[in-house]
Amino acid sequence: MAQIHLEIVTPDRKVLSQPVDYVGAPGIEGEFGIMANHVPFLSALGIGNLYYKENGKYYYVFVAGGFAEVNNNKVTILAEVAERAAEIDVSRARIAKERAEERLRIQKEEMDFARARAALQRSLARMRCRSSAETAGTCTM
Ligand code: ATP
Repeated sequence: MAQIHLEIVTPDRKVLSQPVDYVGAPGIEGEFGIMANHVPFLSALGIGNLYYKENGKYYYVFVAGGFAEVNNNKVTILAEVAERAAEIDVSRARIAKERAEERLRIQKEEMDFARARAALQRSLARMRCRSSAETAGTCTM
């Protein structure tokens, strides 16, 4: 099967760089899928889980914000934040979820609801990422 090169980078590090069979990514306007020989494409990323297929298995990476670009049979993910499933600290995500939920419960004028909602979305997506990878048997470094 023809492959496409997937590279995921953040401002701090290269998270992943390898050929894959398929990439699904959380675009700001919904999920999109990319296979080999896709036409050039650019999309902003939302908060969610990118997944890729390699050798019949699905692997999961949490991403939040940034851009995806497809060009010359390469998918470049320039993410503000990205973690492979095995890197996710589930108890930290659970604490972040509780903190965000608590903030969303407080009815105070100075409360930044958009920020709390985004933190909640990140924590839920991290937990989903981890459990999807565990179910797929690909939660490895
Ligand atoms: P927290 O409130 O726990 O910091 P957050 O969603 O506000 O969570 P981010 O701003 O998205 O955190 O990320 C800050 C840095 O911490 C990034 O480098 C990110 O990869 C890392 N990080 C945050 N949460 C986790 C987690 N649960 N597991 C692994 N790395 C994490």
